[in-house]
Amino acid sequence: MTYPEYQEWAGKHTTRFGFNTEGDLKLFMEWFDVFKDFTAPDLAEATLRMSEGDYPGWAREHPKALLRLASLVRAERLQGDLDATLPPDSPSCVECGGSGWVSVPVLSRKIDGKTVYAIDKNEWVGFSIIPGTHGYYTCVVFCNCPLGYWKDSHWGREDFKPMRLDEYVRHNPNYRVQMRKREFQERQAAELERNGRRTAFDEVLDRLRAKCGIREPGEE
Ligand SMILES: [Zn+2]
Repeated sequence: MTYPEYQEWAGKHTTRFGFNTEGDLKLFMEWFDVFKDFTAPDLAEATLRMSEGDYPGWAREHPKALLRLASLVRAERLQGDLDATLPPDSPSCVECGGSGWVSVPVLSRKIDGKTVYAIDKNEWVGFSIIPGTHGYYTCVVFCNCPLGYWKDSHWGREDFKPMRLDEYVRHNPNYRVQMRKREFQERQAAELERNGRRTAFDEVLDRLRAKCGIREPGEE
């Protein structure tokens, strides 16, 4: 706060509590350096709270008591500002698990100047970005829940902006089934690979057993 603002507040405070000697005013003005980091409304609120509670009878005891009150007022104000900028809680959202983001198949991609679509007749067919490979690429969209809306409205980048889920669904209504199918296929592939590895390992073990005459447990 500025010096004139402080002076105005000090005038109001001293008048309110009946401190009208030159000494009282001088005392308050000496505290400017301590109070200058507060806002005028912070100090006005501190004055109000002091008048509503038990207040010191002596002018010289006021600044310290005001400092405590003003600090409290400021802390409450800052917390209020912080709450206003924090995203809403949405731990119960099953769609995004409380993250505000939903993972979905990428719809299309420009490859060599040509748009290639990953969805064909409601099926996720994926596409190839690197020749010789085929990929099922996913991206994230803003969820339809309050947290998703909050993230959407607080998105800071100009060059790129994810879609919202409701908009995405208009392009690809079957995305949930596609994601589940893909997960299942990936699990199966991983299982096959694991089994394949076990077989190869077992073969080596078998050969070693035969070579070194190792018996299976329980084998006589
Ligand atoms: Zn959500």
